[in-house]
Order: sequence, then C-alpha cells, then structure tokens
Amino acid sequence: MQSESQRSVRLRFAPSPTGYPHLGNIRTALFNWLFARRHDGIFILRIEDTDVARKVEGAVDIILDSLRWLGLDWDEGPYFQSQRLSIYRETAQRLIDEDHAYSCYCSPERLGAMRQEQMKRKQPPKYDRRCRDLTQQQGTELKAAGVTPVIRFKTPLEGETTFHDLIYGRVTFRHDTLDDFVLLKSDGYPTYHLANIVDDHFMDISHVLRAEEWLSSTPRHVLLYQALDWQAPQFAHLPMILGPDRAKLSKRHGATNINEYQKEGYLPDAMVNFLALLGWSLDDRTELLSREELIKHFSLERVGKTAAIFNKEKLEWMNGVYLRRLGLTEFVHRAMPFLDKSLPESVRRPLDEGYVSQVLSLIQERAKTLAEVPQLADFFFLDELLYDARLLSKGKLDAKSGIKAIMAASQKLEQAATWDAITLEGILRALATELKLPAGELFGVLRVAITGRTAAPPLFQTMAVLGKEKCLKRLEMALQLLEADLN
Ligand code: GLU
Repeated sequence: MQSESQRSVRLRFAPSPTGYPHLGNIRTALFNWLFARRHDGIFILRIEDTDVARKVEGAVDIILDSLRWLGLDWDEGPYFQSQRLSIYRETAQRLIDEDHAYSCYCSPERLGAMRQEQMKRKQPPKYDRRCRDLTQQQGTELKAAGVTPVIRFKTPLEGETTFHDLIYGRVTFRHDTLDDFVLLKSDGYPTYHLANIVDDHFMDISHVLRAEEWLSSTPRHVLLYQALDWQAPQFAHLPMILGPDRAKLSKRHGATNINEYQKEGYLPDAMVNFLALLGWSLDDRTELLSREELIKHFSLERVGKTAAIFNKEKLEWMNGVYLRRLGLTEFVHRAMPFLDKSLPESVRRPLDEGYVSQVLSLIQERAKTLAEVPQLADFFFLDELLYDARLLSKGKLDAKSGIKAIMAASQKLEQAATWDAITLEGILRALATELKLPAGELFGVLRVAITGRTAAPPLFQTMAVLGKEKCLKRLEMALQLLEADLN
C-alpha cells in the first residue's frame, strides 16, 4: 500500500444522472477540478447510474454538456457504474466470504411494516438485523423457496468510527446509530455505498470532495474500507449552499439548474468565478479571479464550514464585468444567437453583422446577461417603435414645447452634412442654446423619440448608428404622437 505522501492526486466527480445538474453539484465538480488542476492531478468523471428507478433519460448528456460549457475538462472517463456491475458483485461476495456481510431475505412488506412501527414509536428507521445470524441451513431453505436476497453489511454492534475530514476535522459516529445497510440490492445492482467505495478504491482516488450531505454516509464507507483492508481516500465535505434567507437553495432564489444560466446568457468564466466563491475564498475580499488565478490559489484550507450564501445580484454583477471585458468581436459572436432567437420576427434575418457590431458596441456596457441584449437593443432593429406618447412629455417639456423642440431638431438635422456622434452633438447643443432649453431636457425628449424609452445608450452615438433616415422618420412619428396627444 502506498503511503499518503506518495499517493498521486486523483479526484473524481461522480454525479447521479437523476436530472439536470444542480448548482451545488456543479460547485462540487468545480472544486474537484480546481484541486486536481492545482496539484497537477487527474480529474475523473464517473456516472453513478445504479439507481435504475431514478435514472433520467438524457441526463448524462446534459451533465457532460454543462461540464464542457464551463470548461471543466476531465482526464479519464466518463466511467459508468452500470457497466461495472461484476466488480461490485465480486466485492460483495468477498465481504460475505470474510464474514463482513450477509444475505437478507426479509420481504419489502416486512421491512415496510417494521419502518412504520418504528416511526410510530418515534425511533429512527433501522433494520432489526433479523437475517444477520441465519444459519447456512436457513439461508439455503429461503433461497430454495425462491426468495432473492439483498446483501447487507455487518456493521459492528459496538464501538465507534472516527475519521478526519479535511474541512470538518475529527468526525466520530457511534456504531449503534448505524444500520446494517444494503450493499447489493435484489436486482443485483449495488447501492451507492458499495459502488462508490469500490470505484474510489479501484480508480485510486486520493481525495473525495463532495457535498456535506454525504458526511453521514462516510462512517459507513470507512467501515467498508476497513473490512476490505483498503486505504481510504481523504475526505473533504463541502459546505451547503443556501439562499440569502438561509433556506435551502431553491427556485425562488433564482434558477438552481446550471443549464438555466447557460440559457440566460451567463458566461462560463463568470459562472466559474462565482461558483468558486461559494464556500471558498482567497482572502474574504477579492471577488474577481480568473480561471488561472483560481487554480493557482485554490486550497481546502480556505474552504469554510459554514454554509455559502447564493446571491443572484452578485452573479449578475459579476457576469456584467465579464461581458464588458470581452473584445467587441467576441461579444458580438456570443450575443448573436440571442439576438437571432429573441428579436421580433419582423426584423429581417440574417442580421447584418456589421450593423449588429455597431449596435452592440453601445449595448455591451449595459448588459448583465446575453439574454438581456435583444431587449436592450431591439429599437435599433425595428422599423416602427411602439411606445406610450406620454413618455415624450414626461420630462419638463410639455407636449407643446416638445413639438416645437422636435420640429426644430428635425430641421437642423435634415441639413446635417455628416452623420456622426460629434457632429450630431454639436448641432443639438447649439439648438438647445438657441431654444433656451437646458440641454438635458431637449436630449430627454429626443431620446424617447429616437429609442422609444427613457433609458438608452448615449443619444448621439445611438443616432449615429441608426442613421439619418431612420432618425428623421422617428422624429416625425414622435411629432404625430404629440400632436394626437394635444387634440
Ligand atoms: N452520486 C453521488 C452524488 O450524486 C456522489 C456522492 C459522492 O461524491 O460520493 O452526489
């Protein structure tokens, strides 16, 4: 057996394909990946698909896609437990042969009734060990009667098990709180406990980083390692993730499936940065860390015991930062599918990339997610804007002065020889002075007329991108709206 210091660093992410990967699962994957990369180790992907009843069609592909999307590349696998059944069966047999396990013939009905009775008496449900001491003769008879047994572990009746968790420290469980848990089900499939430790052993896993909810399973695993005379990996249980109200993370705190974030246009780098800080920190201050920095600094010493709080606003902020850091070409490339999908049908496809690029140079500053881009940019693409006429006279200018201002602006702009932001600004500032209007008021009405909204990218640049013809048309339409409003 190798000593701890010689053992090479091998980690695994071992999801069960029971649905869409939850943020918590992906955080686990990320921490395993970071630890492996930090120590030049190996990151293994293992699909724990032995719970046939809970298996969801397509879930494996979704898990793999999510990992690929986030750039969490694996070095080995995916291994599938369902393809390794003989290894678990052999190990279960070995445990029987060495008197660490036994066949249990109790019917599901009997177990159900027992559980009900225990619950009535407010006792924790626990197998009563009826088959633990069956004679060989009794076993043979039951088998002959056609009962297919499950295999249970012979948990020591007394004493306790202690192990060292790299995050929680020394953890002790009394054996009398543990059950004779099932190792192999009657359908021949292993339970999580058996398959998990057999694989961790044969895959030579050095560190098991997993969610805190598995902490209570670990004494069972340690007992199994001891019974098999195998060296256990080191364990590190990761703190829970809670919502800001300290309740278990659920839909009302924001999407809980990683795929939703992909769909909403979060960037993988932002997601990785954000997830890394759910339970780990560099120094309690630094929020923005690149992938390389995370790998360089990741350590279990800085993983906390207390629950991590999921904060959607922080994620949005962080994603905005990462979006602004993209070069324009990259931003366009990433935003294009979102525009294609969500701009109104009336907008002609394919979208003109040159035009999109000019538009997005003004939007990039403002978007927190890519899914927001179409809605921030749609007025650049629409032929006609639909907006409430009252927006035009919402500022200090009433409808009458609004009409006057827009008419004057139209006249000046019509004469403009060039149509760039600087020229437009010059023309419109001069006009404000001429009309004795505060510039902000004039620009406010024009902004609504040009964009159909009160908050939009800088006015002159917006007008420059839209072009003369469209801008004049929009001013004309605003006039009509105001006039209709007056009558
Ligand atoms: N299949 C388990 C899960 O879905 C793995 C737990 C472990 O890492 O041991 O979380």
